[in-house]
Amino acid sequence: MLYVVATPIGNLDDISMRALKTLENAELIAAEDTRHTLGLLEHFGIKKPLVSYFEHNKLSRGPELIAKLKEGADIALVSDAGMPGICDPGYELIRDCIDAGIEVTVIPGPCACVTALVLSGLPTDVFVFEGFIGTENKQRKAFFDRLGRERRTTICYEAPHRMQKTLSEIEALFGDAGTPDRRISVCRELTKTHEEVLRGTASELKDHFGENAPRGEFVLCIEGSDKAPGSADVKGNASEITGASAGCSGLASENEMRAYYYELTNSGSLPKEAMKALQNRFGITRNEAYRIVKLPEKL
Ligand code: SAM
Repeated sequence: MLYVVATPIGNLDDISMRALKTLENAELIAAEDTRHTLGLLEHFGIKKPLVSYFEHNKLSRGPELIAKLKEGADIALVSDAGMPGICDPGYELIRDCIDAGIEVTVIPGPCACVTALVLSGLPTDVFVFEGFIGTENKQRKAFFDRLGRERRTTICYEAPHRMQKTLSEIEALFGDAGTPDRRISVCRELTKTHEEVLRGTASELKDHFGENAPRGEFVLCIEGSDKAPGSADVKGNASEITGASAGCSGLASENEMRAYYYELTNSGSLPKEAMKALQNRFGITRNEAYRIVKLPEKL
């Protein structure tokens, strides 16, 4: 049986009893980053064989895992943080298990998008999760087109170094659409020591981040438009920025990105492939990826 196990997104106390039991009982743990998961297992005193399952080996590793599962193995699937399959590897393995008639279950737990939505104070009755906004112009344009017309609360992941650009684009979009007061919640470092929620309009938040550089991990929640055709009035009180800026080194996430790159190349990915995976995984541009890994531009 495949056990899809959610793990903490920052605070290790958020691991569930069931997640720990499942990891203890599994014959094998398939992890996005084996070194990262080893740290988690060591923290909880669990010793288990680990095998990597990530973006760039999923095509070869997936069938190997399926073969073991067919033989009756109990395998746990984890990602670096949160729910596997949500902007993390997992979907294809789950789909292939289902197609192969292998039983799959989820051990629920932390997930940044749902945590942020609830904390945002924005309507939770209907919402849409957009994953990473992305870096490609075409992809971003399509996202902003949808956002302008969206009546549900939109949740998305964004990298800290693109926060200002994104807020500027939202500010322009909402200005043009005549809804400059659509509320946004920026949820930062959820469940961690420096957890912070900033609530305001795009322009208020842009001003805030102009003075306090965005650092750490972020989820954006954006109020739906009540000007879109057929929408209900979902507006509440006037917005204001709340919360305080906190110091947490942005270098940490660049280190994480670098570590991810080397995890891939050490596991057999070609540098070029690892670069592409790095861009997809963290939603960064090619230039940013090269700067962070400090490689010459040409591979
Ligand atoms: N599978 C994860 C989940 O269940 O949320 C998401 C993995 S995705 C690769 C990583 C992104 O999720 C980060 O870049 C950030 O946007 C968001 N994220 C993860 N942990 C977070 C946290 N503690 N606070 C804010 N955002 C977080």
